[in-house]
Amino acid sequence: MSTYMNKIIPIMDLRLLNAVAAAEQRPVVADTGNTPAAGRLHAITDKLDRPLHDLRISVIDRCNFRCVYCMPKEVFDNRYAYLPQDALLSFEEIVRIAKLFIAQGVRKIRLTGGEPLLRKDIERLVAMLSTLRTADGTPVELTLTTNGSLLAKKARALKEAGLTRLTVSLDALDDALFRKMNDVDFAVADVLHGLDVAHQVGFTNTKVNMVVKGGTNDSQIVPMARYFKDSPFTLRFIEYMDVGSSNGWKLDEVIPSAEVIRRIDAAFPLREMVPNYRGETAGRWSYVDGGGEVGVISSVTQAFCQTCTRARLSTDGKLYTCLFGTQGYDLRALLRNGDTDEVLLTAIAQRWQQRSDRYSELRTAMTPVLAASRKVEMSYIGG
Ligand code: SAM
Ligand code: SF4
Ligand code: SF4
Repeated sequence: MSTYMNKIIPIMDLRLLNAVAAAEQRPVVADTGNTPAAGRLHAITDKLDRPLHDLRISVIDRCNFRCVYCMPKEVFDNRYAYLPQDALLSFEEIVRIAKLFIAQGVRKIRLTGGEPLLRKDIERLVAMLSTLRTADGTPVELTLTTNGSLLAKKARALKEAGLTRLTVSLDALDDALFRKMNDVDFAVADVLHGLDVAHQVGFTNTKVNMVVKGGTNDSQIVPMARYFKDSPFTLRFIEYMDVGSSNGWKLDEVIPSAEVIRRIDAAFPLREMVPNYRGETAGRWSYVDGGGEVGVISSVTQAFCQTCTRARLSTDGKLYTCLFGTQGYDLRALLRNGDTDEVLLTAIAQRWQQRSDRYSELRTAMTPVLAASRKVEMSYIGG
């Protein structure tokens, strides 16, 4: 019997259970003849009226890089307590949770980590997730964020398994600087090769994300723009954030997106694009000469909490409703206690409906206070 049972009282709409059935493409749970179609269910909303649309799943808390801004060597050394293997959600557990989130409105799943391509047989998980459908039968968008180190080896298997799209992180083109930033002496040429292989095996619309840390790699803004202009890849610049408690973040190391755009525009004139949809996290700019586009993700200078529709699942099955969360909700405990889909659906709905997170919006005013509080690491919760 779950220790949570006394807190979660499942109040189940039959349509939700049918949406779970639809997610795995099996017949509906029951059809009374007057049950509204599952497809007409509305996604649950939180206290700020934000629907639940995206789920980020961290499949591993380990990484083969030691990026200075994410998993600095001094903290993530061989004494660091990574999760033991049996703490990780199994693929079956991940798929079950994903299915329940899809029933609650999720349309997009991103696999992340740590480094997701280090998780053994990750392509098998991708294949399992790619069969899931929303209540109206639409496939779920299934993406993955990687440091690219194993991409050349894995790209074909990921494509064949049904991965929709890829995001590759790359912080510099200068080889010496890149090796210094990943701090494991990994060559930039190997990531670029991985990108090329991903393109060759048929991935389209691949994003390349560069975190800009002032004084460390801002010299790479224009060279990166030059390299990816007129290429099949879309480059995006991410403002350096105060995630976790390990990276010693300082506000003066943040290069505002406006400055990034100013520097690129001086070399290659840009014009601002209209957002694709409300709540798009990246500001988009196109090259005036038709050379494609660049994006900027201004998590610090222009917080987008008002339209944040993301839930996050940590490697060990805790649900976080904000990247800057301090405490997750233990869904794995419910799973391993043998709780029913109704109990889990209710738990997820309750957590989302109680959500009022807007950390980034509050950050600027409260920076000194927040910097002192202990936040969860990005490698564990997933970027
Ligand atoms: N290992 C994979 C990778 O690097 O793409 C996936 C996990 S990583 C935590 C996800 C993303 O978070 C990467 O693009 C990384 O650059 C970004 N990231 C990590 N720490 C960050 C920070 N302090 N500020 C902004 N972005 C950060
Ligand atoms: Fe690893 Fe990604 Fe973090 Fe770099 S950003 S240390 S590659 S998890
Ligand atoms: Fe979403 Fe939290 Fe980031 Fe705001 S700070 S955009 S609520 S994850």
